[in-house]
Amino acid sequence: LVDLTGRSCLVTGAASGIGRATAALFARLGARVTAADLDTGGLTALRRDCADRGDAYEVTVVTGDVSRPEDAERMTGAAVAAGGGLDVLVANAGILPLSDLLETSAEDWDRVMAVDGRGMFLSCKYAIAQMARQEGGGTVVCVSSISGVAGQARQAAYGPAKFVASGLTKHLAVEWAGRRVRVNAVAPGTIRTERVRRLADEPGGPEYLDRVTGLHPLGRLGEPEEVARAIAFLASDAASFITGAVVPVDGGYLAQ
Ligand code: NAD
Repeated sequence: LVDLTGRSCLVTGAASGIGRATAALFARLGARVTAADLDTGGLTALRRDCADRGDAYEVTVVTGDVSRPEDAERMTGAAVAAGGGLDVLVANAGILPLSDLLETSAEDWDRVMAVDGRGMFLSCKYAIAQMARQEGGGTVVCVSSISGVAGQARQAAYGPAKFVASGLTKHLAVEWAGRRVRVNAVAPGTIRTERVRRLADEPGGPEYLDRVTGLHPLGRLGEPEEVARAIAFLASDAASFITGAVVPVDGGYLAQ
């Protein structure tokens, strides 16, 4: 049902966490994956792991910063060159700083808005420009968050930045629906990425993780692969009548 065979897919923030799991799943599903990130070493490791597994196409890697227009444009260009067009963008790159209102400086605000807000806008802009030129259009999946749907403490800049991701998704979905471009988002709950797993060894970390786990009705945190599967569904033709949706992948967090 979820078939990405031969599809040209660009995944930003693909060196780690949810982006890495998504790029690896897409490659396993037969997609032509272009993986973009600031972290060249992480991208190289992803490409090697997919090649060792014997995936159909070698992963193309591109190093760059999504918040810089020239880099975001180059990422789309690399995917078009490698895949003969661009069918799917997964706009995932982001930073996740946690601070309350009084701890957050103007510079902190600008930094998270530059990557999570402006970076997502730029990735969508160059990708959709390409998709709208193609006969078959294309599809975008933005990685938002439960923090892009509901309020949480200690997310004074990050939370609003994720609301940008959810809002961009809805506005672009309506604007581009007539040009055969679908735009959706996932809203993950807390996901056991490397960064979250490392918290277990930090002072106060285990207590924090216990408290956060308790906020998810399924009684555990999510795995990166569980988010990747929802992204793959939304990116595939199985989701052909879905656009403008912000889909929770959150163990029931937003249902409360
Ligand atoms: P992560 O830190 O493991 O991965 C993020 C990747 O983005 C890294 O490889 C990093 O190098 C890259 N990146 C950061 N800034 C970049 C830039 N300017 N240009 C290009 N690449 C850049 O994080 P993650 O937890 O996998 O988060 C991925 C996305 O998922 C983010 O948008 C985040 O807001 C969202 N999210 C994560 C969680 C969670 O619990 N982990 C929950 C909800 C939403």
